[in-house]
Amino acid sequence: MSPTDTPALRSLVLGSGGGGGVPQWNCNCRVCRLAWDGDPRVKRRTQSSLAVSADGESWLLLNASIDLREQILARPAMQPKGQGRHSPIAAALLTNTDVDHAAGLLALRERQPFTIWGTRATLDTIGANRIFDVVGRDIVPRRAVRLGERFEPLPGLTLELFAVPGKVPLWLEEGEVKTDEIGEGTVGVAVEAGGRRLVYAPGCAHVTDDLHARIAGAHALFFDGTLFTDDEMKRAGLGDKTSRRMGHQPVSGPGGTLETLSGHAGVRRILIHINNSNPILIEGSPEEQQVKAAGWEVAYDGMEVRP
Ligand SMILES: [Zn+2]
Repeated sequence: MSPTDTPALRSLVLGSGGGGGVPQWNCNCRVCRLAWDGDPRVKRRTQSSLAVSADGESWLLLNASIDLREQILARPAMQPKGQGRHSPIAAALLTNTDVDHAAGLLALRERQPFTIWGTRATLDTIGANRIFDVVGRDIVPRRAVRLGERFEPLPGLTLELFAVPGKVPLWLEEGEVKTDEIGEGTVGVAVEAGGRRLVYAPGCAHVTDDLHARIAGAHALFFDGTLFTDDEMKRAGLGDKTSRRMGHQPVSGPGGTLETLSGHAGVRRILIHINNSNPILIEGSPEEQQVKAAGWEVAYDGMEVRP
């Protein structure tokens, strides 16, 4: 960004689905069936990732989805400009080490310089897995940031990470699993450019006072929309875990997102990281109508938000 340009916060939804995307390769649930059939009421969705920028040229990925290559193919803003090797993707930040948030790093391994950001805990987990060394550490530095520390991964773009209650990724689960752990394992991101602010929290077990305060100070919120009801997976015969057991506050019901975040009507509120079982993915469904009536939007791949 040249010094004369005023930074302006932009965000681009690369992927709006939860783990597995929509449709999921091995799923024929009600939503996936419609998606397989090409029903216009259900958009196909890749796994969740949000790109943010202060100048529209250099972009920071908030999570590197396992679908990243497909997302780059679909979004001209993510594609090389000019001669030879180039990418507008200048940095990637991981909010945790879920497969759908971290595995996309493996798609960025062709000797392209960028920076990987995360908490120490997240970078240690990635660091302990040698497959990620295919992204050469000599040209792709890994930078640890502390919770609450403000940093500027791209010129004009200021970030701060904060803890949100969550659980360890499925692939690291051992023994008794705490589903609302607060620490460096699962973080939310506050992004600011040109005086505009957004909060990104694609995984959240429950809303803390700290999160309430951050949302109140933001212009836009991208929030965990994984499941509509706590027992959605069980009732659809897709699994035996509740939403809360998976570390995700459900959208509806007592203590759900519509209820707990109803006080933030002045903030543009968008559900992201939406699992393929979630009926809000069917346009016109009672559940989608309910979230819209409550003032929420449902993210879709390619959605642009300028907070
Ligand atoms: Zn499904």
